[in-house]
Amino acid sequence: MAEIRNIVILTGAGISAESGIDTFRAEGGLWEQHKVEDVATPEGFARDPDLVLRFYDMRREAIQTKRPNPAHDALARLDEHWEGNLLIVTQNVDDLHERAGAKRVLHMHGTHLNAWCTACDAKNPWTGTLADRPPCPACGTNALRPDVVWFGEMPYEMERIYSALRTADLFVSIGTSGAVYPAAGFVRDARSLGARTLELNLERSQGSGWFDESRQGRASELVPEWVDTLLDK
Ligand SMILES: [Zn+2]
Repeated sequence: MAEIRNIVILTGAGISAESGIDTFRAEGGLWEQHKVEDVATPEGFARDPDLVLRFYDMRREAIQTKRPNPAHDALARLDEHWEGNLLIVTQNVDDLHERAGAKRVLHMHGTHLNAWCTACDAKNPWTGTLADRPPCPACGTNALRPDVVWFGEMPYEMERIYSALRTADLFVSIGTSGAVYPAAGFVRDARSLGARTLELNLERSQGSGWFDESRQGRASELVPEWVDTLLDK
């Protein structure tokens, strides 16, 4: 096997689920009793901003009570000790990778703990509520929304992600269904450019066939094992 130097890791809902954060695509297309199109699309926000802001206020409050699990801890350890390039691309909008200590993290779907001003485009750290329409710290306009990428919106920093995929020797997908594009296509891009590809997921995913290797189990068990092997070399 060729030497591994550059690693891209994609993480999804499965890694946060073990910290008690419910998965985005719950059974039946409902997310805490709401339809995804009502709370996670620009159209839903335009139709009922109070509902959407209250929904995200609850989630922002809830994630601050959750803690990183051994899978987050293991990736933070890898980040600390890996001397080659490493990029943890997460689809999750919580901050559990950062709270575990990881630094090289890219939030392609934004983060719950930011507020985005639709008047001046400023993004500010935010731990409080938005439903009460607080003013933007930068411009004072009452036009803040959650800094999360909704369905129908463009994920963040795609150029940086593709640039990392182009030089990756290893691409690892952790706890993600392989159903939501463009992330679901990363394995094909990485593989066509010569990277080895590994999937760590609770069950075989829709995209499993694209990976060189697919391991099934809990992220909190599989990820620490995999990181130990990688750092042992
Ligand atoms: Zn503003």
